Amino acid sequence: MNDQSVALYDMTFPQMQDWVVQTLGQPKYRALQLYHWLYQRRVVDIADMTDLPKALRDTMSARGQVMTIREVTRQVSRIDKTTKFLFALSDGVTIETVIMRHDYGISVCVSTQVGCKMGCKFCASTLGGLIRHLRPGEIVEQLIFAQRLLDEEGLRVSSVVLMGSGEPLENYDASMAFVDIVTHPEGLKIGQRHITVSTVGLVPAIYKLAEERRGITLAVSLHAADDETRSRMMPINKAYDIARLLEACHYYYEQTGRRITFEYALIADHNDSVDDARKLAALLQELPCHVNLIPVNYVPERDLQRTAPAQIRTFAEELNSLGIPATVRREMGGDIAAACGQLRALHSPQEVTR
Ligand code: SAH
Repeated sequence: MNDQSVALYDMTFPQMQDWVVQTLGQPKYRALQLYHWLYQRRVVDIADMTDLPKALRDTMSARGQVMTIREVTRQVSRIDKTTKFLFALSDGVTIETVIMRHDYGISVCVSTQVGCKMGCKFCASTLGGLIRHLRPGEIVEQLIFAQRLLDEEGLRVSSVVLMGSGEPLENYDASMAFVDIVTHPEGLKIGQRHITVSTVGLVPAIYKLAEERRGITLAVSLHAADDETRSRMMPINKAYDIARLLEACHYYYEQTGRRITFEYALIADHNDSVDDARKLAALLQELPCHVNLIPVNYVPERDLQRTAPAQIRTFAEELNSLGIPATVRREMGGDIAAACGQLRALHSPQEVTR
């Protein structure tokens, strides 16, 4: 982007109205037209926005940019058509986005940062640290890109998870601008309850989000049932321990009425014993929630092994029998480098080995 140009997908609807009126000197309704072109017809060339006057299209082309991300490569699973994109941003750094087809609909997993600084011991996205935050538009464009591909089959994205690389609650404003943009009734109209924000457990940000009383789902990466184990796996636990984290989760539930999702990656001999399941059940006893059990994805640099399938079932059954709803996340795209951060590591090794 040159200095004067703005990224159109960065703007919430009110921001677009301001831009149209104040910068372009146009009537407000032009913002509505523009929003429809961007989000409902998903046109990426301003020249194609044919109900806008030609002179206005020319001015907008000079001052605004539509797609700022570029596809570097794509992998499609032969098993379940899970599609993983590697995108390059305007400064050349890369992020991943995934489309997953479930029986209940299609979900898209978007990244919110380039890299991550949270340092979780099982995760590939954090290997080279945090490079930078994404702008709201860079998050939105991932979704538009995915939706445009699905448009070819007449399909719609039904849910979005902010579970790609990065910590969404650390890039709070951009993540929430993303939510505002994609839920807008004149835009993509994704329902708040079809959006899940996943966090490593940034307690102050969870309180802030609770206060906003949005209808979005909060997913918390718990991964352990005691502080010693969790601190070993996730450095953030030293700043906000399990007790403080769960207090914040209770508050989120009280404020929003939304049941919390807990993610729990099962790693052989680390956090997967029946005793761990019992401790977990005790922690979550009073909180309306759901536990998502994830067989840990193998990351070569980490060398952690998955819990065996029989033990995963035992763990899930133990939780269920103690009154905690738990399901095992089905693996998607098992034949492609779909695990977190792996496509990026393959194509942009310089970004992850710094
Ligand atoms: N920073 C956020 C969101 C991005 S990570 C968070 O921590 O929640 C999305 C989810 O993938 C998190 O639950 C994370 O703990 C999990 N994850 C990361 N690496 C993984 C791996 N190798 N196997 C299984 N889950 C993993």
